[in-house]
Amino acid sequence: MRAVVEVNLKAIDHNIKQIKSLTKSEILAVVKADAYGHGLLPVAKQALTSGASWLGVALLEEALALRAGGITAPVIAWLTPPGEDFAGALAGHIDLSVSSISLFEEILGAAKVSGIKPRLHFEIDTGMRRGGVLGEWSDFLAFAKEHASEYELVGVWSHFARADEPDSTFNAHQENNFELKLADIRLAGLSPKIVHLSNSAATITNSAAHHMMVRVGIAMYGLSPDVNTLGTSKDLHLIPAMSVKAKIHLVKSAKKGEAVGYGGTALLSADSKLGVIVMGYADGLPRSASNITGVMHDSKRAPLIGRVSMDQCVVDLGADSTAKAGDYVTIFGPDGYSADDWGKASGTINYEITTRIATRVPRIYT
Ligand SMILES: *Cc1c(COP(=O)(O)O)cnc(C)c1O
Repeated sequence: MRAVVEVNLKAIDHNIKQIKSLTKSEILAVVKADAYGHGLLPVAKQALTSGASWLGVALLEEALALRAGGITAPVIAWLTPPGEDFAGALAGHIDLSVSSISLFEEILGAAKVSGIKPRLHFEIDTGMRRGGVLGEWSDFLAFAKEHASEYELVGVWSHFARADEPDSTFNAHQENNFELKLADIRLAGLSPKIVHLSNSAATITNSAAHHMMVRVGIAMYGLSPDVNTLGTSKDLHLIPAMSVKAKIHLVKSAKKGEAVGYGGTALLSADSKLGVIVMGYADGLPRSASNITGVMHDSKRAPLIGRVSMDQCVVDLGADSTAKAGDYVTIFGPDGYSADDWGKASGTINYEITTRIATRVPRIYT
């Protein structure tokens, strides 16, 4: 294989157990976006084996892929626009999230046709101004009450906008709003079985917000929700599960002052050996990381030099390198350069780095 994503399922197991030590609540493992690039089914199965009891995804097709893979645990899909195959969702026993009366009506309509009672979670906008019911709250509540016999109210939930800033008063503001809306729901005679609010950052920093279930994504993959505010994976006792490796296609000597790659954006500062790596931005390595981060060869750092190309990139192996064509380098992993480093180098976050490793790079599991 010219490039590979190695996913360490033991790390996922460790991370779930680490999260379990922080909370008494149930754990919903977030496996959207192909489990943040780690591979949907292997991660989902490991998460359930290691102590998660629920799975969460954004899209309906992700939820149905879990069912097609034989997963019987409760699954919620929280991002279903109008026009989705809600009959298929009901037949697959997928929990759905509603954040508007119109979507609520559409799902109840599909339920009438299929004869299956929907399992619903009400999403409340407590401050993020993304998903969730906001302006039509009292009408939504009246609708929910009027149709209470037509669905099962499984959950009520919301999402933090700034959980990775534990000192922000905005978190308490959102928690307050959540409590007020929960009180409204209960006053209307509706009783959700599972109240859920916290993502990884809130699970780590704010045990008062755990409620009955926490929705954990990034921490399960062994990465920090925010290295600056919460510390690194190591600080959080998490083990990054993903390592990305690629082969060296060519090793060559080049001279001080020579320019490398498109645009000649980097000059060699000394005579050195260059390694041409068979991985580029089509594989998910951000071009904006050009000349900034690097890779590991034989436990030594080899910085990127020149622009990342579509299918390849070049690293400075150093004059004394023993690297040869066919050797693997580690682009990122638990040691040396990390997904955090690649995120920082390209002006983004670790989440974006792992989720964007292209599907043309095979995943293997250890
Ligand atoms: C992605 C997502 C999560 C998980 O967030 P992390 O920061 O990765 O833990 C939780 N809840 C919802 C609704 C999400 O979309």
